[in-house]
Parts: sequence; C-alpha cells; structure tokens
Amino acid sequence: MLPEAGSLWLLKLLRDIQLAQFYWPILEELNVTRPEHFDFVKPEDLDGIGMGRPAQRRLSEALKRLRSGPKSKNWVYKILGGFGPEHKEPTLPSDSPRHLPEPEGGLKCLIPEGAVCRGQLLGSGCFGVVHRGLWTLPSGKSVPVAVKSLRVGPEGPMGTELGDFLREVSVMMNLEHPHVLRLHGLVLGQPLQMVMELAPLGSLHARLTAPAPTPPLLVALLCLFLRQLAGAMAYLGARGLVHRDLATRNLLLASPRTIKVADFGLVRPLGGARGRYVMGGPRPIPYAWCAPESLRHGAFSSASDVWMFGVTLWEMFSGGEEPWAGVPPYLILQRLEERARLPRPPLCSRALYSLALRCWAPHPADRPSFSHLEGLLQEAGPSEGCCVRDVTEPGALRMETGDPITVIEGSPDSTIWKGQNGRTFKVGSFPASAVTLADAGGLPATRPVHRGTPARGDQHPGSIDGDRKKANLWDAPPARGQRRNMPLERMKGISRSLESVLSLGPRPTGGGSSPPEIRQARAVPQGPPGLPPRPPLSSSSPQPSQPSRERLPWPKRKPPHNHPMGTPGARKAAAPSGGLLPDPELQRKIMEVELSVHGVTHQECQTALGATGGDVVSAIRNLKVDQLFHLSSRSRADCRRILEHYQWDLSAASRYVLARP
Ligand code: ATP
Repeated sequence: MLPEAGSLWLLKLLRDIQLAQFYWPILEELNVTRPEHFDFVKPEDLDGIGMGRPAQRRLSEALKRLRSGPKSKNWVYKILGGFGPEHKEPTLPSDSPRHLPEPEGGLKCLIPEGAVCRGQLLGSGCFGVVHRGLWTLPSGKSVPVAVKSLRVGPEGPMGTELGDFLREVSVMMNLEHPHVLRLHGLVLGQPLQMVMELAPLGSLHARLTAPAPTPPLLVALLCLFLRQLAGAMAYLGARGLVHRDLATRNLLLASPRTIKVADFGLVRPLGGARGRYVMGGPRPIPYAWCAPESLRHGAFSSASDVWMFGVTLWEMFSGGEEPWAGVPPYLILQRLEERARLPRPPLCSRALYSLALRCWAPHPADRPSFSHLEGLLQEAGPSEGCCVRDVTEPGALRMETGDPITVIEGSPDSTIWKGQNGRTFKVGSFPASAVTLADAGGLPATRPVHRGTPARGDQHPGSIDGDRKKANLWDAPPARGQRRNMPLERMKGISRSLESVLSLGPRPTGGGSSPPEIRQARAVPQGPPGLPPRPPLSSSSPQPSQPSRERLPWPKRKPPHNHPMGTPGARKAAAPSGGLLPDPELQRKIMEVELSVHGVTHQECQTALGATGGDVVSAIRNLKVDQLFHLSSRSRADCRRILEHYQWDLSAASRYVLARP
C-alpha cells in the first residue's frame, strides 16, 4: 500500500531517524496525520505501539527539528558558497569548500528550472548528458547555453557521480578566464543541471578528427590553441588546482580561433607543501595521458598537468590520434619508465616536439611550468611567411604568389624548407627562396626560423635515447583518411574508456578483516527505502538485494604475479595512494579503508585507523559518517543512523540525504 500523500512528511521524518517501521501504527493507531498531532501523543501511547524510550527521544528531537524549520545552510549552500537564486551575496560562508579561492566577477547563480529550456543533445559523459539550451534571464534576454544534467537512474543519482558533479560545479563557479569554460549557474531541479557557456563548435578532438570535406586545422592555429591552453592552465595552477584530464576531448571550441578548457570533473585542489594531490582510492583516470608518477603513485600536480599538456600537443599535431594506441594500459607505465616517448608527428616542428619532450621529463621538477611554457611556445612557434613566386616543381609543395605559408621547419643553412600552405592546407617541402617571412621585412628568410633547441628524440621517434637518423625534409604527413584508421572508437566515450591507475595492482578480496560493506557492496539496496511493510520491520532486517549501480573500482586485470612484464611499478601501484608504508599490515588496512570509502585520502585513512586502534570496520564507518556529515546538514549522530539503516552503503545514504536537504 502506498503512503497517503498528506502523511509523506511522517514517513520522511521516521525514515530519517530509522523508525520507519512505526509509520503505520502512528498513522492508524494514534491517528497522527500532522506534526501538531504529536502534541497530544503521550509516552504511554508510544509505548503502546511498541516504541522504546530511546526511540521516543529520537522522535521527540526530530519533531523539534521539524518545527524549527530547515537549517540555514544545506549542501547546496555549502557547494555554492552562499549564492542565492539569481543574486550574489557578498561573503562566502566559513564552510565553503577549502582551497578554492573566492569568486570574482560575473554572475554565478542558482537558476530557476523554468528559465532554462533544453534542446539538441550535444553529447554524454560519465555522469551526465549535455544539451544545447536557452537561458532566459530575468531581463527577458535569452542566452544560448550548454546544459549538463546529472544522469539520474530510477532511484536517483549515484553518490559518486553526484559528488563528482557537485565538485565540478564548485570548481567551475570560482573560475573566470577567457580560455576556461564558464559556468553560468546551477538548476536545482530533477535532475540537477549545470548551465554553462555554450561552445558551439564542439570539442577540439571532434574537430581534429572531422571527416572530409572539413579541412584540417592549420598548424598556425594549433600553435595559437597551445598558447591559449598554456595560459588557461597557468591560471588554474595559480589557483591551486590540478586538472588531471587534459586532452583534446576536453578542449571546446567557443569560436574557430578560441578554445576553452572544460570538464572539471577530475579537478582537485593541490594540497600540502609538495603541491600535489594524491588520489585517495581507485578512480578512473586517463592512462595514456598520465605522467609516470600519476600512474605509479596516483600523484597529480601542475607538473603532471604539464605532462598531459605534452600529450595534448601530440594529439593536436597527430590529427586527434589516440596516444599509445594499441599499447595495453598496464604496459604504458613500463614504456614510459624505459624512456619511450610518443613519436614526433609529421606536422609538428622539431622545436615544438622538443618542448613536448621537456614536458615529458621523467622528473616532475624538470618539466617547465605553464607560465614558462607560454613563453617557450611563443619562441618555438612557426614563422609566418608569404609565397613570392609560384612553385610547381615536382614533389614540392605547390604554391602561388601571395599564398600564406607557415614555415614548420627551416634554417638559414637549408635551401629546402617544410611548411603549410594556408590556402590549400597542404604540407610539404619547398625552396626557401620562394617564401619571405612576415617578420623579416618582406625579405627572403636568411635567419633560423626556430630559435628553440632541436629535439633530442626528434630524429629517433619513439625513444629519447634511440639512434640518430637523418630527417627527411620531403616527408609528407599521412593522408587524413589513414590517420582515421586509428582506434578512436575506444576514446569516443572520453573518460568512460579510462581505467583506474590503481588497477595495476591486485584486486583486494573481501575476506580477512573486510567489513561487511566491502563484501556486500554489490548486494545492498541502492535506492531510498520503500514503504515499511506491515507488520513493522525490525530495524536490523536486511533490505532486499539489488545489484549495485556503483562504478566498479577495479577493472579486470591480472594481478602483478601474472603481470606479463612483472614491473616493480605494478607491485607498487597496488597501494592506492602510492608510497610504501613500513608496516605491511598497516598498509593493507589503509588500502582496505581507502577502497571502502569514496573520496578519502590516504592520510585520512591512516588517521582514522589510528583513532580506532587499527580496527578497520570502525575506521571505515567513522569515515563514512564524516563523509555524509560533510555532504549534508545533519548531525553526525543522524548520519550514523542513516548509514546504519543503509547497511553502511555510503552511496545510498548520500542519495538519501541529498534528496532530502
Ligand atoms: P566525462 O565527463 O566522462 O569526462 P565528457 O567530457 O564527454 O566525459 P561531458 O563534459 O559531460 O562529458 O560532455 C559530453 C559532451 O558534450 C562532450 O562531447 C562535449 O564535447 C560536449 N559538451 C560539453 N560541454 C559543452 C559545452 N559547454 N558546449 C558544447 N558542447 C559541450
């Protein structure tokens, strides 16, 4: 039987305090249908329906809370830091997210659901779908926007995804940069929606791989994008943020000559004196884009973003090819530690490739910073020139007088240069005498075109230390059709195809001291509880089993002893946050705790274990209470009760509290 609509408040109230089994007796035997009716209910009446005195006290407290109205700060205010609907308040509350700087400029607000209408589907990601939309401002003006809606299953959003979604909101709302995608606001509807600046031309990756007749992107434009990207990343770094998912799929084209960094779902604040973020548990991360220290230790920093910048540069000049295509994820780290590097794409000049190699320095400290990169890119960028005579020689790049030419490779000693004809988009070699450089006062070029040092690995693609081989100036880039034969399909889903760095290690079993929530993770109910059955349930009654909808934290992978290469990295990566601990038993326990509680850090697990004298189950439970406490506006005691009710399933408990702020 369904609850009566007018008494849903009662069901909610009782569920909150784990007394849902008394719903029917209170409703039918005590005839309580409104909160004020409790004024006439005596303790003996409650005794009469079998409610013990501790439960009565809980009920009385819950009624007091109900009558005193909602708390002033719920999770929305925590996330939004105090923005009210369509207006901005001057100060941030003290419990706004730590590490995030104060917002500056621009309107970031709560947007009424009716003010946004969604149109064409633009794409879908890990935890949401993105539609083109129209946002009607209070003034009546309409603004084209992109609307990302949190994917909602029949039982509400999943805890992990909701957390990531809200984290993306909280990060984006504080950012304001010409090359960072702007968040306009949040719609607190069903589903939750992020209203963002529209990038009408879609992702850079889609543009790079667009089939003919779409022309390829000019080298000069790619270099402009790189400078824009370096500027945006320097900005993020200066705000203490690490992006962790830098790739052409996450760069959006706001106009033909403007890119914007997007997808802040993996962004984290840099913590600690070492200015890095260490993953607190297995998470999906983009293997082929990651720096070795991220793959080995789960460590991310601005320097690991710089590594990803190098891979993004490589993607751009490879026509959107997949880096390390065909190399299994577990071998990528090994290849990188053997100093293998992605080869120089034909369109990429030696100077730029040299920059990429610097971004791929094994030691993070040896990589340039983003602000340094901005200057280096300026220096390494190609020179622009103009064709001064028709070139028709067989095998040479054809050009006509007046054609704009981007010189990709050339030196004063060489009579043959390599470049791109801006009119035909073709790339090839041509006589140096046929082009004057724009910055050489109209004279034929007689100076080095690139001032950067030649790339070390450039003449021996694929390895820093390989044999030197003479570069062939007459090399032409592969045809666009050929490039598209790469396994791009696998990357279509963006982060969906990404795997956890930590999957290199063994999958822990649910045995030993694993708490029940690890062993039963896939058997606990995920949705809000149903109506309590009649006769009342005992509070310890198990809920019906349902398959979990949580992301699997451990992709299927062979354990290290079966690892084909038996790399030391594979063994080390088994520790979720990296860094071997002296006590293997403690290390195992920390790992168990990390794997059981979404979003906690290695350090937090260690501290929690310290506080419980090494008791894994209690540490996990305490951390889950903390997580829920920070997510909601409820007391820790309430959070504990809710978690108990959900058999310590944090996702289900999070969904529950978020649905009832
Ligand atoms: P994930 O979130 O799993 O990393 P994703 O980046 O594809 O994946 P979304 O950010 O949800 O996920 O984006 C989904 C698609 O919508 C992408 O293909 C992206 O190009 C497009 N998209 C996202 N934001 C915008 C926007 N502001 N303007 C135009 N297109 C967008």
